[in-house]
Order: sequence, then C-alpha cells, then structure tokens
Amino acid sequence: MAVQTVAGNTASSSAQAVDLGPAAALSCRECGERFELGPLFACASCFGPLEVAYDLPTGSPEELRKRIEAGPDSIWRYAPLLPVPADVAEKPNINPGFTKLVKADNLARELGVTGGLYVKDDSGNPTHSFKDRVVAIAVEAARAFGFTTLSCSSTGNLAGAVGAAAARAGLRSCVFIPHDLEQGKVVMAAVYGGELVGIEGNYDDVNRFCSELIGDPLGEGWGFVNVNLRPYYGEGSKTLAYEICEQLGWRLPDQIVIPIASGSQLTKIDKGFQELVKLGLVEDRPYKIFGAQAEGCSPVSAAFKAGHDVVRPQKPNTIAKSLAIGNPADGPYVLDIARRTGGAVEDVTDEQVVDAIKLLARTEGIFGETAGGVTLGVTQKLIEAGVIDPTLTTVVLNTGDGLKTLDAVSATSQATATIKPSLDAFRAAGLASA
Ligand SMILES: *Cc1c(COP(=O)(O)O)cnc(C)c1O
Repeated sequence: MAVQTVAGNTASSSAQAVDLGPAAALSCRECGERFELGPLFACASCFGPLEVAYDLPTGSPEELRKRIEAGPDSIWRYAPLLPVPADVAEKPNINPGFTKLVKADNLARELGVTGGLYVKDDSGNPTHSFKDRVVAIAVEAARAFGFTTLSCSSTGNLAGAVGAAAARAGLRSCVFIPHDLEQGKVVMAAVYGGELVGIEGNYDDVNRFCSELIGDPLGEGWGFVNVNLRPYYGEGSKTLAYEICEQLGWRLPDQIVIPIASGSQLTKIDKGFQELVKLGLVEDRPYKIFGAQAEGCSPVSAAFKAGHDVVRPQKPNTIAKSLAIGNPADGPYVLDIARRTGGAVEDVTDEQVVDAIKLLARTEGIFGETAGGVTLGVTQKLIEAGVIDPTLTTVVLNTGDGLKTLDAVSATSQATATIKPSLDAFRAAGLASA
C-alpha cells in the first residue's frame, strides 16, 4: 500500500523520522489508506478517522507476557503495544495506569451476580480519572512532532490531565472547557499552572472552536491531544483492556460495561482485546461490550435502541458532565461494536446515577464520579432486564474520582447527627452500639 505524506500543522522543521516504537503508520478506519506518522486525524481521501497501525511484536506469547509482567507498574509495561518510544519510562511523564481491579463481592451479592464482578478503578490515576492514560500517550506524540504547547477541548477531566502532564513534561498548556463545569474540575484544571479558558457554550461548542483554532495561525505549533493528536491519544484507552486481561490472569472478561462520552474509550478497549487475541496473549473467546450513557445525554443509546447506524446529536443536560458530549465522534463505531459483540447501549436518569454512586461507595468503599455512577447504574439496569448475564464474569469501569463531582451527592451525604461533645448527647442521638 502506498504511504502518502500530508502536510499537518507540525512545529517540527526536522525531516527526521519520528520514533514512536511499534507504530508504523496511520491508517484510515474507513478506506484503509495509509499515511506517514504525523499530527493528522482525518483521511485526506475520504475524511474518515485515522488510527495507528503497528508492527506488533513477533516473539512467543510466553516471552511477551514475561516481558510485560517484568515492566513498570504503569501503562508503560505495555510499551511494545503502544505508539511510544522504547525508552518512554525514562522520560518525564505522569506514568498513569496499572490501577486496581477490585473484586467487588459485596456489590455482586447486592446485584445477584454470581459469575464474578470486578470494578476497574481508574480514580487511582495521577489526576484521578482515566484521561491520564490517553494524555500520557499524546504527550509522547507531541514530543515526537516537536509541539511545545499542549491543548485540548475538555468536559473537565481531560483539561486536568493535560495540565498535569504538560507540567511534568515541561510543555506549555492552554486548555478549553465549557464555562459552567463543576468547581472541582475547574480547580483541578487550573492548579497545574497552565492557561485555562472557559468558553461560553457547551462541549460541542468548545470542540468546534478548537477545530477552528487548529486551522488558524493562532494555533500554530499546538498539539491538541483529542484533535490533531487524536489517533495517538485514543491508543491510551487500549491499556484498560490490557490491564483488565492481565489482572484477570491473562483472560478476557465475558462482559464489560464502559461509559460513553465521545465513544473513543469503548472502541479502543475493543481494539485492545482484539490485539491480545491476535498476539496469543489471551484465549480467543466471545466477550460482550456494553455502553453506558446518562439519559440527559444519550445520543448513542437512543440510536442503539432505535436500530439506527447513525447518531443524531443531542443537547446535553445531565449531572454526568464528563460524559456530556452531544455529538460523539465515535458513536457509529460504538454501535457497531455493541451489536457485533452481542452487547447493548443503555442509559440511566440522574437520580439513578446518584443512587449508583452511593451503592458503590456503600458496598465497596469506592467513591466514583458521576461517570462511574452512570456505568454502574446501567449495569444494574441491564442485569435487571436480563441483558447482562449474572452468571458470567463482568467488569464495570469507574473512570473517575467522586471528589471531582461532590455536588452530585452533597445534598444527600451529610453528617448523621451534630451533637454537643458529651456522652449524654451521643446517647440521645441513638447511635450507640448497645
Ligand atoms: C472522558 C471520560 C470518559 C469517556 O470518554 P470517551 O470520550 O468516550 O473516550 C469516561 N469517563 C470519564 C470520567 C471521562 O472523563
């Protein structure tokens, strides 16, 4: 296949070949045309989205498994499967990943799951959301292409992850968010010292603005992690698939429930599972992928239920702001994957989101953000509907920390009693054990 070079807004003047490890080229998801590695995101022929194509390792699965297991406790243990240079772990990066896979037996009992229920808890990442995974990869691409400013359009978590990663990597950052985000997310995006710009509009307006900025001299030399670096960024989500399989003892889960914002995470987890099968690292057996949305922003769920192949954009209105993308770029691919694997896409109300956040906290001691509530709420709904099989191994993602979205539960999570500091007062409150 011919490799074509297309001018991108790269800041690098050197013609030196970029070293992104096993990444060989970019290839179009729609027509398969290949392009040289660069800051490109759309196919020059058909405008389809580009993704990273690899020269994957050829050794025996046992060897590769051993090499991974001996690697660092971060996503860099999977460097041979990622678009990053081999010495990535020695560079200044926030080193996310290898978060806990919690066997959630209390929650399983409550939900009647007998086949094994696990929560993949990504609140343990450096900036407390799964976004550190995708940003860490984008930083390496930005370095390789010579970008000096890191940017993004964000529903909140991404802005914080970019701010932190840029600070560590010694890059400038300037990130864009809807002006009305949760206070916790604004502070977390600003505290790392980069520029933070609130846009008067929703996420889809922010994203449109960033697309304009990329094409303008004002954005010259900027790496937008989820726009012109999107093919690399997306690969970070594969590490969730790798970790879950490794932590299950190199085995695919039977069922997995994943939140959907743009849908990138869901599509790349599927890609990660398929790569592990191809490499012989896990046994090839069927798995089902389920997508979760909030009712107030459920364009993919609506399309799934209506049997449509295209996703009609919505105007988001939900407390799950990290998932509030009304026009999700990967929506059609999510529909394909849910249908191909025998999964489903479902949505829950904001009230169910809050209930699910509290259920996870009460049963497993894990405080998830609203996206986690969406995912567990949908899991619960699909178990009740008989769509998720309770006798099979099921993994539920918690993609962010509840401290980021305190408002969602603050009204219903308060002190049980407020008393004078005396035993009499405590007795009167009726909380004593005897
Ligand atoms: C961004 C985000 C997601 C999903 O993102 P995609 O755009 O679908 O990849 C899920 N959970 C949280 C907490 C997020 O910040």
